[in-house]
Amino acid sequence: MGKKNLDWRSSPTETLRVSANFSIADFDCASTPGFTGDEYHAGSLMGRRGKELSDLQERLFAEGRSGGTRSVLLVIQGMDTAGKGGIVRHVVGLVDPQGVQHHSFGVPTEEEKAHDYMWRINNALPTPGQIGVFDRSHYEDVLVVRVHNYVQPTVWGKRYDEINAWEAKVVASGTRIVKCALMVSKEEQLNRLEERLDQSDKYWKYNPGDLDERGYWDAYMEAYQAAFDRCSTDVAPWYAIPADRKWFARLAVTELLTQALEDMNVNWPAAKFDVQAEKQRVAALRGSN
Ligand code: AMP
Ligand code: MG
Repeated sequence: MGKKNLDWRSSPTETLRVSANFSIADFDCASTPGFTGDEYHAGSLMGRRGKELSDLQERLFAEGRSGGTRSVLLVIQGMDTAGKGGIVRHVVGLVDPQGVQHHSFGVPTEEEKAHDYMWRINNALPTPGQIGVFDRSHYEDVLVVRVHNYVQPTVWGKRYDEINAWEAKVVASGTRIVKCALMVSKEEQLNRLEERLDQSDKYWKYNPGDLDERGYWDAYMEAYQAAFDRCSTDVAPWYAIPADRKWFARLAVTELLTQALEDMNVNWPAAKFDVQAEKQRVAALRGSN
């Protein structure tokens, strides 16, 4: 693994991946699986990997500008206060905004409701060379929708297979999908909600409805477990990220995203012109000026 994993005892692509026997009930949201360092180490490692991430993203962007069709889709899910916005700001913020297509999915609008649940998702897929970021996603249609039975169980029940088929198609067309679930504990959520009420610069993040949703915690955990059981596939696995320590969640997502791009082996596009001939043309201009 070399230098890049100095502080990782084992790679988050393995330790955080949701496998067949994964159980939310046994999950420790305050843990830092595979990471031997503390918050200070995490900061310096994130700085280093962030530079690599930024370089890889520029290559992907260049590939997209040169006829390539590949892209990346980062899906971020999590309960209220889990830190989804922080991932966008601190991890996605490490790369050039020109190469990022960010979408947050809230309660469907009238227009969105008039279409199939995947309509708004399909419309938001990243274009070539881009990193698409979904702050919430099609998974809301088997999470909040399942918890509140906004559609019949027979309808949401079919969605797991539909989502798997859709993701397989997206991956086959050249989009690498990285699905991160930020797992915050019920206790830490209460701390964060309380903090939002204590600081006037956090009021904007507070929604009285969040307390009502918190009342459905167990049903949400069941829905997350089902999404993990049914939709953590080989082509698009889920990563469950302990999120009670924000610094760990940010470091882990940085690493997952960077490794995804590394796995894609993105190279700088070759020149589509004769480099030597162009150099001679420039040299001739120098001579004449
Ligand atoms: P926020 O992420 O704080 O802006 O909140 C967005 C809200 O939209 C959350 O309460 C989500 O549960 C809700 N939401 C997202 N997608 C859907 C959906 N498909 N159906 C119903 N509610 C949704
Ligand atoms: Mg919210």
